Amino acid sequence: MSALEIQLIPALSDNYVYLVREPASATTAVVDPAVPEPVIAALEAHGWTLDFILNTHHHADHIGGNAALKERYGAKVIGPAADAHRISTLDRQVREGDHVSIGDQEAEVFEVPGHTSGHIAFWFANSDALFCGDTLFALGCGRLFEGTPAQMWRSLGKLRALPDTAKIYCGHEYTESNAQFAVTIEPGNVALTARADDIAATRRRGEPTIPTSLGLEKATNPFLRADVPETQAALGMAGGDPSAVFAEIRGRKDRF
Ligand code: ZN
Ligand code: FE
Repeated sequence: MSALEIQLIPALSDNYVYLVREPASATTAVVDPAVPEPVIAALEAHGWTLDFILNTHHHADHIGGNAALKERYGAKVIGPAADAHRISTLDRQVREGDHVSIGDQEAEVFEVPGHTSGHIAFWFANSDALFCGDTLFALGCGRLFEGTPAQMWRSLGKLRALPDTAKIYCGHEYTESNAQFAVTIEPGNVALTARADDIAATRRRGEPTIPTSLGLEKATNPFLRADVPETQAALGMAGGDPSAVFAEIRGRKDRF
């Protein structure tokens, strides 16, 4: 069994598209192609074709490359059943607990509504890789366009249950501004303040902050810490209902 090889492709102003390759079977997929051009360029550089397109949700900056890549390579588009009515290129609809194979690597599908009502994530356990679109970001989470705070808190809880070693491949490079917000929530979290310094240095070098790890997120991402006593105390909400604490943090971020 050979783990997935994952290549990060920056697109638009701050999107990340991921080229995913299972080398033993020479199977290639792309996750959330915002636009086709950089994906085609990367495939051509390697001399690869494209077998699958995985979509986490219906937003244009995640599916914008579907039609052109599907036409050029005959790739099959796999995405959320709940979004079938608004992803016209979809070939296979998947739901919670379904499995998606890229060669011998298999992903489990999680339904993670909140940013959008149909949002899903793909968890490749044998490669320790999570593709979570705009649900979980490094030090942040997606805006609640189509969901409630309680729904998003439950969705993030599913992702938080994965192993600490899980590598998090999210849809955007928002990490530096997320860090500037996160330190206002938990100024006394030394793991967070140290990480914020690392992130600023990484971005000064023009490098991506992705992937992050779930263990690091659990220690520093305020949106995963709404039930952590230290975080609740920092907000003056000790003993509070976690989804109410989450709603408070999300509201502050929306106004930040
Ligand atoms: Zn989105
Ligand atoms: Fe997005």
